[in-house]
Amino acid sequence: MTAKRKATSESEDETTQAKRPRRGVVQQRLEPVVEILVTGGRSESPKPRKLSRWERLRPCNDSKNIVKKCVSVKKPVRNTRNLGNLERLLTLPLDIICDIAHFLHPLALLHLAQLTTGFREILMSKSAIRIWRTSLDLYEIPLGPGDINEPQLVDLLFVQGCQACGAPTKAKNVWFELRVRLCKPCMQENVRFASKMAKEIGLKVRDLRTIRTLLPSDNQKYLESDFCDVAEEYLSYEPGSEEQQEFVERRQELTEDLYEHDRELLHWLSKSEKSNDDLSQRQQRQEEFIRRLRALDDYTDDEFQYCRSYFREEWNDIVFQPRPVSEAVWKKYKPKLVGLLAEARKALDEYEKQRQLGHI
Ligand SMILES: [Zn+2]
Repeated sequence: MTAKRKATSESEDETTQAKRPRRGVVQQRLEPVVEILVTGGRSESPKPRKLSRWERLRPCNDSKNIVKKCVSVKKPVRNTRNLGNLERLLTLPLDIICDIAHFLHPLALLHLAQLTTGFREILMSKSAIRIWRTSLDLYEIPLGPGDINEPQLVDLLFVQGCQACGAPTKAKNVWFELRVRLCKPCMQENVRFASKMAKEIGLKVRDLRTIRTLLPSDNQKYLESDFCDVAEEYLSYEPGSEEQQEFVERRQELTEDLYEHDRELLHWLSKSEKSNDDLSQRQQRQEEFIRRLRALDDYTDDEFQYCRSYFREEWNDIVFQPRPVSEAVWKKYKPKLVGLLAEARKALDEYEKQRQLGHI
């Protein structure tokens, strides 16, 4: 049986109690913890639904200005820019949609889940976990320790915008270990030094020392809503009880797993950025070759496409490489590429001739 702590007012350190700020301020700042600290967990009125950790993030003071400046973030708007192909899925039978969904990029899955109520019900159901995991595996995205679900992980990784105020954010504003994506002012508003929060809620130094080890921090700063939750649960156990010890061990293990997942995600991101850079360099080299070849003759898109498809290996070995095109490289490979294009032109002309004769 879980031993609940006696009303905190009885066991509270009087010295820390004296240093507490005004009740109103505390209630505003640390509402969930205050409830248990003030009432000892006994609530006269029915408990309202507890908001999720992301719902409890406080928007920064600048948020009104930011929202005014950025009309697109006035309210959360579904990104419909890349939904063209997804919308076509609506016409397919459900089992085929589920088969296709396994191979979609995780962000496409998230967009699909936002497309219609039907998709949302399918993709946010427990049975859809396999679809999400297959998609995450396909892109070698490391799965977390289970503290957030797969769609939440995808949101954290790929969706843009501050989770508290909606202002546009950059990838560097994602704190994977804290599981939040915040703009700088919202970060300052929601991620705070433990010692300050402890002072506000009158935590004993001994308790604070333990609570610090029960959740991840960013340079000794903790996400306030998580800090409150963890402190609240830690204080709900009888001090030194078996239940409290179990809670401490469970949280410390989760904290280690969160730091590890943070390292894995950062590694994945840097790998993915490198691969995007590499692709972009290859595309630039290809464009440069095509530009130089077009200056020699009036080659068509079909002729280049033919080379890319039928002489794929030779084309990729020369053209689709990350190194830029130097004069020496151009001089070396020009004859070979002109030869490939001549073959492509000949083959396409022959195809056209056969088509006009009605043989194809
Ligand atoms: Zn913000």
